[in-house]
Amino acid sequence: MVNIRSGLSRHVEDVITAFMDDGGVNTLWQDPGERAWARPLVGFSSGDDPMWEALREVADPLHWTPAEAFAQAWPDMQPGPAELTVISWVLPQTEATRAENRSQTAFPSLRWARTRTFGEEINDRLKVHLVASLKELGVEAVAPTLLPNFSWQNSPRFGFSSTWSERHAAFISGLGTFGLCDGLITPLGKAMRAGSVIARMRVPATPRPYTTHTQYCLFHSSGACMKCAQRCPAGAITEQGHDKEKCFNYIFGLVIPYIKEHYGFDGYSCGLCQTGVPCEAGIPATKKE
Ligand code: SF4
Ligand code: SF4
Repeated sequence: MVNIRSGLSRHVEDVITAFMDDGGVNTLWQDPGERAWARPLVGFSSGDDPMWEALREVADPLHWTPAEAFAQAWPDMQPGPAELTVISWVLPQTEATRAENRSQTAFPSLRWARTRTFGEEINDRLKVHLVASLKELGVEAVAPTLLPNFSWQNSPRFGFSSTWSERHAAFISGLGTFGLCDGLITPLGKAMRAGSVIARMRVPATPRPYTTHTQYCLFHSSGACMKCAQRCPAGAITEQGHDKEKCFNYIFGLVIPYIKEHYGFDGYSCGLCQTGVPCEAGIPATKKE
């Protein structure tokens, strides 16, 4: 195991940033001049953070702990949870993509749809790249969502959930809190995708500058806003929160055929609730601020 040493977390951040700065990789178009994702944000959390166990109680009973996920890739090793670090990142949508989707009222824009499909492939490539880069340092690592056993389920109590949630990993790693629509509001906004890798190394955890899991959301902090609900064409967001089933049915029933017909590829996205809202590109200010 690589022990605490200065510079390791900085090295990981540099690997992630350099990969996303590569215009030949981070692009949705033939022209590599336009980035698919803006500059990432990176956070770290310990494998023994009590939040990993708490997550199973409150949100996702089948969610793996970091140790459980790591053991699937490295069954001969049995590191203690404290020997593992979860490296989490946020890939923010670009201003061009956000602006385009902001103007939509029923279906995602072309850039947004391409980012959700082809941009997510870049996110997966980043996971593979980071695991390989850590291996060069002698650090064993795994990307949990790329494990063969990674899966989704639909439970009566929690609705759709998965064996590893990138947004919850980002929340535990100090990168943001949840909004009324279930999206994660980060310092760079809610219009983003997250990714993570678990590594056998120790670096200081990123402080969580919040005390509740919904602190950055205006509805949860002051009872106001609800802009994401107004943006949702499926009526899937109410004061009670995000109806995952309604959202799923809208996307599978209407959006996927729309993308195929109008944009010419098999895509899955929507994201109207992530744009044209006060939390789109940053933590929204309350009236007091
Ligand atoms: S749009 Fe408003 S209510 Fe919805 S998540 Fe953002 S801050 Fe919360
Ligand atoms: S992704 Fe689309 S359908 Fe789902 S909650 Fe957001 S706006 Fe509504």
